[in-house]
Amino acid sequence: MARSILSASLVRPAWQLGSFRVEGPDEDSFTLAVTALNRLGRQLQGTGARTLARLHVVGSCSPEIDWAFSEALGIPGLDVRRYPSNAPGLWGALAAAAHDDGTAGREAVVAADTATLSPEAAGDRRVRHSAGGVAFLLSKELGLSVLRHGFRGHPPGHSPSMQGAITGWLEALGLSPHGSRGEVVFEVEEEPDRWQAAWEQAAPGITVTVVGGPRVDVGRPSAVEAALLLWELARRLRTGDTGVVGQAVRGRNGFSAFRLDGPVRWLGSWGTGEPGLNPPTDKFLIRKSQLDAVSQGAYLPHPTYLENLAGRWRLVGERCPRCDTLAFPARGRCRSCGRSEGLRSEALPRVGLEVEAVTTISPGAQPTEFDSMVETVGAYDVAVVRLQPGVRATFQVTDAVAGRLRVGDRVAAVLRRLYPMEGEWRYGLKAIPETPGSTPRLGERDPKSPARSARRGSSSVAPRERRATPRGSGGRAERRPQRPR
Ligand SMILES: [Zn+2]
Repeated sequence: MARSILSASLVRPAWQLGSFRVEGPDEDSFTLAVTALNRLGRQLQGTGARTLARLHVVGSCSPEIDWAFSEALGIPGLDVRRYPSNAPGLWGALAAAAHDDGTAGREAVVAADTATLSPEAAGDRRVRHSAGGVAFLLSKELGLSVLRHGFRGHPPGHSPSMQGAITGWLEALGLSPHGSRGEVVFEVEEEPDRWQAAWEQAAPGITVTVVGGPRVDVGRPSAVEAALLLWELARRLRTGDTGVVGQAVRGRNGFSAFRLDGPVRWLGSWGTGEPGLNPPTDKFLIRKSQLDAVSQGAYLPHPTYLENLAGRWRLVGERCPRCDTLAFPARGRCRSCGRSEGLRSEALPRVGLEVEAVTTISPGAQPTEFDSMVETVGAYDVAVVRLQPGVRATFQVTDAVAGRLRVGDRVAAVLRRLYPMEGEWRYGLKAIPETPGSTPRLGERDPKSPARSARRGSSSVAPRERRATPRGSGGRAERRPQRPR
């Protein structure tokens, strides 16, 4: 049996410029990918046949941190495969995860795009598309089945016949143009009317939605855009329906086909999200490459950093078998009774953490390693957070306007860039506000956090209020003829 998509999560950065979401200075492809994966909740932490065995990474995360996914997710031995950050990359990764015979367990696909350009292209501070991360969990259960896909490039100005392309795709799928019921969501850069007509002629039995031009809130085609197209398709499918997503953009035509055989959980704001945070300074897009910067702050040697990554990245402490005390951070020794044998690793919760104290660090008062971040977003808060009775940790607060967090508010711990040291980024946990009202909004942080809904075993499909939203609002051309079904 092939694997099918059981759940999918989407994260968008908190910061917004114009209509686009832009990653904060402490976010990158890796942190967006990890956040999207964590949004899948406990489903990722399966055991036995449900163990996550392979991760297919779509996008530009630096390959030298492949090992870091395993550590960030707490899944030892996770095998990582790589794909380019575009629609063919995403469809290829989903197909590989679905039909991969190399592992027996579950597999996941994650894609992440950043909105800002690399430091090498500094000076160009235009933002052309949104940042975001998406993750898919695939398992040998009934969900959204991944059928065939195909993409073909063509020279500029020599696009192949539309109808010929469509007929070829339908043949590859074994779909009869007349008898089959199905849905198509097709994204084109140009000539949406001609594509619509070509689809209607080639496949009169199939409902076709041609979307013209990039989504107003996402921008040019990317892996995240391709995932949004898949969501637009899946929410139109009824059980048993076959659906095709396609693209005719950037000198390339292609399709990927799916069949809805079971429910899919869509976690996160797949519809248009709530407004994001406006950056507090006009230097938000200044992203200096400062991997070579020498910090005069707390020097942390590389081996020491690697030593306790489980604690730094996942709040893993040690539980004493004799007196049941949980020590965090882990010290290899019970801080209550002194025992050092048989200590068990245990992860503390990372959501719903209560703020016990909070301080605002004004520009100029920060340790030097945070200079660049302060230049980009200004002042920031530092919070003392209760992890559990008697166990506290201090976190820098991010995705928030400084001075708004209050004692008693709830925060979640998320993996972010901390600072560059010894020529690489060091990552660690920061706190983001969870409490409604303490910040203007944090679009993704709805009260039903993925971890919690996973615990409750909820199995919702696309959010209901989103499903009723008319598509095409906000300037995106859309044609969806009414057909009897
Ligand atoms: Zn003890």
